[in-house]
Amino acid sequence: MTGPALLIRRGRVWRPAGVLADGAVLIEGGRVAWVGESGAAPGGWDSELDAGGALVTPGLVDAHTHPVYLAPRLREVAARSAGAGYAEIAAAGGGIGATVRGTRGAAPGELAELVRERLARWPAGGATTVEAKTGYHLDRSGELAAVRLLAGLSTAGRLPRLSVTFLAAHALPPGYERTATDYLAEVSAWLPEAKAAGAAAADVFCDEGYFEVEPSRRLLESARAAGLAVRLHADELARTGGAGLAAQVGAVSADHLLRIDAGDAVALAAAGVVAVLCPVTAMGMGRLPPVAALRAAGAVLALGSDHNPGTSGITSMATVVGLAVQALGLSLEEALRAATAGGAAAVMLAGETGTLSPGEAADVVLWDADHEGAFAWQLGELRPSAVYRSGLPILGAGG
Ligand SMILES: [Zn+2]
Repeated sequence: MTGPALLIRRGRVWRPAGVLADGAVLIEGGRVAWVGESGAAPGGWDSELDAGGALVTPGLVDAHTHPVYLAPRLREVAARSAGAGYAEIAAAGGGIGATVRGTRGAAPGELAELVRERLARWPAGGATTVEAKTGYHLDRSGELAAVRLLAGLSTAGRLPRLSVTFLAAHALPPGYERTATDYLAEVSAWLPEAKAAGAAAADVFCDEGYFEVEPSRRLLESARAAGLAVRLHADELARTGGAGLAAQVGAVSADHLLRIDAGDAVALAAAGVVAVLCPVTAMGMGRLPPVAALRAAGAVLALGSDHNPGTSGITSMATVVGLAVQALGLSLEEALRAATAGGAAAVMLAGETGTLSPGEAADVVLWDADHEGAFAWQLGELRPSAVYRSGLPILGAGG
């Protein structure tokens, strides 16, 4: 189902290629058929929407999320705000291990419904595509079930499109008695099944206290051999070499990057690795990624909410764009480009979404503002009035 042909006219159409102050977008067969000045719009459409000067953008892409969990760890968030450290929280039974225990204990139907309801929030922040990771089961059957759950939801009504990432290498399973290298060797054996279940990529938390570079490299090489793209949580807690590894193995993205240096930024850019920045996480860590170095290197940027049960509950890419400007120092142009074309590159959907170019899926957002400055000015208060995924309304527009 793709819906009738629709002309959206009289919008301020923002695209990575430039702005049309009085622009129009023609949607046919779920695809962008034409974009140009309102006065030059072709006929032949079934219905017309007068945007009344409102901002129109491509659907936003959230390039980093962890949505498959039972419940947020709110007590831990409060404890951390009062100065509790990582070790203290882990000793009190918190951290990723706590989420794993709870999520493994959830009934499959209960977890599926929670995750579906959770993902239904993203369109309200303007996202039509979301990268979604597994990683709160940390055993073969649970991780593969999480891939199947996400892959199934990607085609569900009124949800964003999902790009599924297999993150069994998130942390050591609670109570695991062998080494991290042993665990990654086990995970390697699950990769072909993850691919078959619908994963597009594999990810590893390559950082201090998690997984070291060499076993991570072996895992990612196995993932490539299994036909999966690879991405990394890299150099967030300490500069252990994750970004360098991402460049060496040809990762599609390296995420967080709070500790990288200028040389790492050059290596990422030269290897075509998308740098995924997560402003909420950076603010929580009190450490910002080196945007100037990434900019100077010419790296492609993307943005993520890093939605997860421990440190970020946000689902609004409008908020993430605003924070990328206000906290990370991106220009509005850079932030919007990162949240559209950059995100599409991070999830390997360049050419399919992110630029409002003819032929792409008609992922279109009408905003309750008449200029993109509203992203930084209103932060999380900027809302879409309508969101289309492949030409079908998933928010507003009577859908
Ligand atoms: Zn993450």
